[in-house]
Amino acid sequence: MDVVTDTERLPSQGETLLGTDYFMTPGGKGANQAVAASRLGGDVSFIGKVGNDVFGDRLMTNLQQNGVNTGGIESSETFSSGMANVLLKNRDNRIIVVPGANNQVTADYAEHYRHILKESDIVLAQLEIPLSTIEWCAAFCHEHDIPFILNPAPAQPLPETLLKHSTYITPNEEEYTKINTPSVEKDYGETFITTLGARGVRYRNITVSAPQVKAIDTTGAGDTFNGALSYYLAAGYNIENALYLSNTAASFAVEQSGAQAGMPSFQQVQERAYH
Ligand code: ADP
Repeated sequence: MDVVTDTERLPSQGETLLGTDYFMTPGGKGANQAVAASRLGGDVSFIGKVGNDVFGDRLMTNLQQNGVNTGGIESSETFSSGMANVLLKNRDNRIIVVPGANNQVTADYAEHYRHILKESDIVLAQLEIPLSTIEWCAAFCHEHDIPFILNPAPAQPLPETLLKHSTYITPNEEEYTKINTPSVEKDYGETFITTLGARGVRYRNITVSAPQVKAIDTTGAGDTFNGALSYYLAAGYNIENALYLSNTAASFAVEQSGAQAGMPSFQQVQERAYH
């Protein structure tokens, strides 16, 4: 859950300020990406954990209202829901993320839901749960020939096994510079799909440009891209078409404020892509 407080200035140490407004909006990279894929028509299941608190109920309801299957989500008895505390002053922001129950999504927990992974056409993971869980999932998918997409956000150096077991790795440019080393580039460069903001996306030696739109708020652009990419690849589109359509899907996200609000339907993407 993102809790966003608008303020005219940021408080200094020990100071209490009156803010101008606040709002709560369901977030989390995984949840956003699941909603993006579902809105396009995907049959999406989510594996994760929420806290036994009001945010947890709200987050579950939001996923269900967006058609995401929540059979792989449990409510932690002891930990809070993952939340981001955002202080927003115009475009300047300061954010504290509390992982809470997300840290309880262990490899054992994911293994308990292996049937969900096993019946999937594609699996998409982010780095907002423990790395060991993602390593386990990637190895499981590799073993069962299930394409595994890693959205390496927030960025951190990736272990060799994870690089090896990922079908595609989808950083933005900033994340790419944090992950990339000469040896990663040499051995795994061809695995990377790097998003370039308004310039589109790069994969191997091709750059697919994004539609030109009036950007209002780029929050959720990357999440829409990842959800869309998973959807189109799972639906059998080849990589070039999937990249083109995912760029098109993500261009909708930047036209509205908030991560999930602007995520498009399949029909909306078709119209912008082909008309
Ligand atoms: P993130 O949101 O993770 O920082 P990017 O900024 O690279 O990632 O954006 C992800 C994708 O969203 C891009 O590859 C592109 O398809 C789309 N996108 C982002 N910004 C714009 C924009 N200004 N105009 C059109 N599409 C955009």
